[in-house]
Amino acid sequence: MSNEIKSITEFDFDLICEYFSLVERQGPGSPEATIKALSFIDNLNENSKIADLGCGTGGQTMVLAQNAPGTITAIDLFPKFIEIFNDNARRLSLHNRVKGITGSMDELPFAKGELDLIWSEGAIYNIGFKKGLSYWKQFLKTGGYLAVTEACWFTPERPDEINRFWVEAYSEIDTIPVKIAQIQEAGYVPVASFILPETCWTDHYFLPQRSSQTEFLKRYPNNKTAEELVANERREVYLYDKYREYYGYVFFICSSR
Ligand code: SAH
Repeated sequence: MSNEIKSITEFDFDLICEYFSLVERQGPGSPEATIKALSFIDNLNENSKIADLGCGTGGQTMVLAQNAPGTITAIDLFPKFIEIFNDNARRLSLHNRVKGITGSMDELPFAKGELDLIWSEGAIYNIGFKKGLSYWKQFLKTGGYLAVTEACWFTPERPDEINRFWVEAYSEIDTIPVKIAQIQEAGYVPVASFILPETCWTDHYFLPQRSSQTEFLKRYPNNKTAEELVANERREVYLYDKYREYYGYVFFICSSR
């Protein structure tokens, strides 16, 4: 059925993948933030088993692999991201220790108690923070770690425009103390938390998208889906610029008792 007409959603899906495969990161973060989070983790050696969930094309996974011993299995739902991921691992000669596979973070292929560390940057929101924390815990060894970034409010109240945007995009967004309580309720010890610096959004996430947006719109002239996609991303930049004091990403490092 090679000449089958693609459904709109399938086309949208491919387009979103293509847009985000043009940039190194698919979420806010930076090599410095990844290394800082890693500095709180003290249980790793050459035999350690690490999982990176919602890895995208692997921006943070490669930094992790270059700064920690052990093997990493990285999982993402989008096959195209995994293809790019494995090319990147090969290019950096990390392919013996780092492997990307297609799969879902809510159906993990690991054994109970198998993992020393679960990593997940900018991705747990796909299944929700509380669900992710409680489902992932069974795969960690006692004394294993979870390092995860999550969107948080920085103030108890905030302007309506940004409140509405986030409640629609991710209704589980909440303040840092609420997130820490959720970590404890899920049976972890909160080891450390820090707010990602603004450059993780501006320099490492928004800026690389700016040139890809021009390239992407040239590739798909007069295409409504492509135009809407770019308009949405530009709106995110506008909102961040206006309301950055009210929200951001927070790195939480948790230990599994
Ligand atoms: N960690 C990367 C990517 C973050 S974007 C970075 O920080 O750059 C979120 C990623 O989650 C995307 O790559 C998306 O494809 C992936 N994703 C979405 N739903 C998923 C699911 N159910 N299981 C695994 N990955 C998922």
